[in-house]
Amino acid sequence: MRRGVISLGNVKCDGCQRIVPYAERYMIVDEEDSDEVESGKKLYYCVDCCLEKGYAHYREEKGEKVLTFFPSEIEFLKPGGEETDEQAADNE
Ligand SMILES: [Zn+2]
Repeated sequence: MRRGVISLGNVKCDGCQRIVPYAERYMIVDEEDSDEVESGKKLYYCVDCCLEKGYAHYREEKGEKVLTFFPSEIEFLKPGGEETDEQAADNE
């Protein structure tokens, strides 16, 4: 099972071992023996590793590249709670 999350700055990527900076997205994936499973060992992957592993991809939208983790079951947790301005999904 995969879950997209926004980093609070204290997460280390299990793929490339770098710290995922604050407000950057990462993904929690349940894996067993490198296979994705419903419930298993939880691994954290930064965007780069998600792209590399095929857990995320970029899609073109109105001439812009938009990062997509996966089409359904997406759930983003916001850092610290109440911020809303950060996610500029709407553009003119
Ligand atoms: Zn990584």
